[in-house]
Amino acid sequence: MLGLMQSQPLLISGLIEFAERHHGDAEIVSRRVEGDIHRYTYKDSAGRARQVANALDSLKLVFSDRVATLAWNGYRHFELYYGVSGSGRVLHTINPRLHPDQIAWIANHAEDQVLCFDLSFLPLVQAVHSRCATIKHYIALCDQDKLPKDSGVPNLISYESWIGTQPGTYTWPTFDENTASSMCYTSGTTGNPKAALYSHRSSTLHAYAAALPDVMGMSARDAILPVVPMFHVNAWGIPYSAALTGAKLVFPGPAMDGKSIYELMEAEKVTYAAGVPTVWQMLLGHLTANNLKFSTLKRTVIGGSACPPAMIKAFNDDYGVEVLHAWGMTEMSPLGTLCTLKNKHDALPDDEKMKIRLKQGRAIYGVDMKIVDEAGKELPWDGKTYGDLYVKGPWIVRAYFKGEGGDPLVDGWFPTGDVGTIDADGYLQITDRSKDVIKSGGEWISSIDIENIAVAHPAVAMAACIGVLHPKWDERPIIAVVKKPGMDVSREALIAFFEGKTAKWQIPDDVVFVDAIPLGATGKMLKTRLREILKDYKLPGT
Ligand code: ADP
Repeated sequence: MLGLMQSQPLLISGLIEFAERHHGDAEIVSRRVEGDIHRYTYKDSAGRARQVANALDSLKLVFSDRVATLAWNGYRHFELYYGVSGSGRVLHTINPRLHPDQIAWIANHAEDQVLCFDLSFLPLVQAVHSRCATIKHYIALCDQDKLPKDSGVPNLISYESWIGTQPGTYTWPTFDENTASSMCYTSGTTGNPKAALYSHRSSTLHAYAAALPDVMGMSARDAILPVVPMFHVNAWGIPYSAALTGAKLVFPGPAMDGKSIYELMEAEKVTYAAGVPTVWQMLLGHLTANNLKFSTLKRTVIGGSACPPAMIKAFNDDYGVEVLHAWGMTEMSPLGTLCTLKNKHDALPDDEKMKIRLKQGRAIYGVDMKIVDEAGKELPWDGKTYGDLYVKGPWIVRAYFKGEGGDPLVDGWFPTGDVGTIDADGYLQITDRSKDVIKSGGEWISSIDIENIAVAHPAVAMAACIGVLHPKWDERPIIAVVKKPGMDVSREALIAFFEGKTAKWQIPDDVVFVDAIPLGATGKMLKTRLREILKDYKLPGT
């Protein structure tokens, strides 16, 4: 017997319609590429998203055609999120930090028809347009009077002239909720990038889940500043969850430096922010250097790479801001786990609480996870046993766009490529990417643990731990370290700093001081590149 409830497809257009009707006067504030602050409401935004949909119709784009963006976090990008997907086309957010060759490859692979870009990326567009065979229309996200002349980019028009002549009335179409809504290519550290193709259903379910109190905990009373980019994994779904809750949105545009982010947070009374550790490091640096405090910020979600304990402590102890450590990936829309404590942890001493906060957290309803050994056998949840992490759920990929890479699933589970432990309360702790695990004398050393200890040293700005070959132990850990400007620490002092903080055999054998650690397009340390740079390195005494 079937239930007798109404069947209504979960469509992204429903989110903006809801926000317009129930939170029409809630604000969306953006720092623009032009440098000024733009301010309007969900109601204004919904009207302009409908203009986008009409403008796409005028270009004769058909259902599921891809519309690409190269854009910062801002109101026009937000309108495209809804106008493109809501009208049945697929929003393809491109990461501008990728190499131009990769961007051209991705645009061709996705068969993008239109490319909308912020003017900051004009040089990039000029460099790649002749290689983007399928793109017929280039749209600069600016006013008509800002449109560059003689840019050499074919069929270039301004966004404002493109949508300006279109009516703000449009009936969002109804279609199968499993229809593709947006796509995002992984960084392709191994081989060509592959695209996760999100659906209306997966994005809406993810938006519901992300907003839950033990997840991102978003409400109409929040003012949210996503520093996580809308060009990578839909800014962790915040543009959708914000509309679902009616939260005020504050977009930082291109200005990611500590001063700009801090000033925007204070001016717009931001209560909630989300970003990767490298961005927060710049923000905390600005606060310390200028002796500043937050007056409204209460919580920040940090993920994308492991959040060092020193950062959790600084936010909590010095600024009264709660850090929610999150884990996920492009293939998971991206949220998998988020770390909030349970009531039973209230009585724990602070250092025990910190041990839990450092973990990547508990699975969100909708994400099932397990750790397995090399034979695929499930391992116990004891907080000690390491294994390969597998996940499944309705917002996790089952295949990549155009079938690239074959069938990624193993018995219905997606292998994340991460290694971790899960404790009896279900808290996941990521110890490494499987390719970064250091195997020493038959035991595993977590490079994340070693890096966390190193960055707790006051003179260390960044640290990357890698394994190097050793005749007796197979591999031994060393750390590449970037010192903070004007600070100094010797190799011996840094190695001594590890004493008592980890088991003796896990202490790195050597420290290599470097000017910078190579970062990938999503701001993560590129250990493959670091290994190449250090390929002639030899451990002392070997
Ligand atoms: P990419 O496109 O580079 O794969 P993703 O954003 O999809 O970028 O990266 C996902 C990976 O980032 C995860 O598989 C994991 O290795 C790492 N990661 C994400 N969040 C965390 C975290 N909180 N702690 C440790 N690693 C993390």
